[in-house]
Formats: sequence, structure tokens, C-alpha cells
Amino acid sequence: MTISEIKQRLTDGNGRFVNDQLEGNLQDGARRDELTGGQAPYAIILSCADSRVVPELAFDAGIGELFVIRVAGNVANSSSLASIEYAVAHLGSKVIVVLGHQSCGAVTAAVQGGNNGYNLNHLLSHITPAVAAAGEGAEINDVVKKNAMLTVDDMMARSSIVRNAVESGDVEIVPAYYNLDSGRVDFL
Ligand SMILES: [Zn+2]
Repeated sequence: MTISEIKQRLTDGNGRFVNDQLEGNLQDGARRDELTGGQAPYAIILSCADSRVVPELAFDAGIGELFVIRVAGNVANSSSLASIEYAVAHLGSKVIVVLGHQSCGAVTAAVQGGNNGYNLNHLLSHITPAVAAAGEGAEINDVVKKNAMLTVDDMMARSSIVRNAVESGDVEIVPAYYNLDSGRVDFL
């Protein structure tokens, strides 16, 4: 599939999800058997860990279609970036979706600030630039969108594997926003 075909497939799958018409293909024993020798997921989804955001459902995708990395706030830290690099360099994934979502708790915590302990402080430090960029008094969901967009820039700046793949046209990174209520994914 080409990059535009992949994006269309994600859009079509999301449309089925929004309309409660999931096909649920490629989720059976035959599909498992087919993939024991290897995987070639067409897209990478960097999603929040929020239990209400389920990428395989949101895009009506089956086993082996999506390489999903989940971390609170969908941030590009060393571990999530390394996982993305693996899929780009070794699995041939062509589209990277950075999937922020409505009412994200991690983004809300970053906006509120304060001391949340070593580990969470470290994670939230990846979101702080989006809080600053969105400006004083910005709505949480605007910071979420800004965070998804800045995460794209972060990936490009911090990963030569991702940057080279994007610059050569082999990979496209798409910031996106998931609506908790409708289930719709907006590509930003
Ligand atoms: Zn979240």
C-alpha cells in the first residue's frame, strides 16, 4: 500500500468504528498462523495509554496491521522513539500517527504543574512545551492538539532514522486527535 492508501484505510476503518459497523477482519486463527513468521504492520500508532482510546478498534484493524506504542500523553521519549525506529527500519511501516485525545489526563496534569514524583515529572516534561506553546489559559483539548503536533517535530529532531525516512518520502507522520464521545479521529 502507498502512504495515501494507508491513510485512506485508517480513515475508512475509523468511519466504520464511528458508525458502529466494525468488520473485525484479520482477528482469527488463520491470521495468527499467517503471521507467525513475521509482521509487516502498515502503520505505527503512538497513542496515549488511556483505556478509552483503543487504536485497533478505532481503526477497525486486525492482528499485525498496526504497530501500537502506548504511553500516557503519547510522548516521544527514548523508549517510544526506539520502538518507532524499529518499526520504520525493520518492519516497513509507512505512516506514523501521533494520536492525542479529548480530555487527556496526562496533558491535564502537565497544565496543572506541580510535583508529581520523579517518573511522572519526567513524562510530563515532554508535554510542557505544548503547554507553553498553547499559551496561558488554553483549553486542555487545544493543548492536546498542540502536543500531538510538537511530538511530530520532536520525533524529527531526535531520530535520524525517522527524519531520513520522512525526508526521503518513505514515511509520513500525521498528528491526530481522538474524540472520546464520537470515536472520530481527526487528522490535524
Ligand atoms: Zn491521555
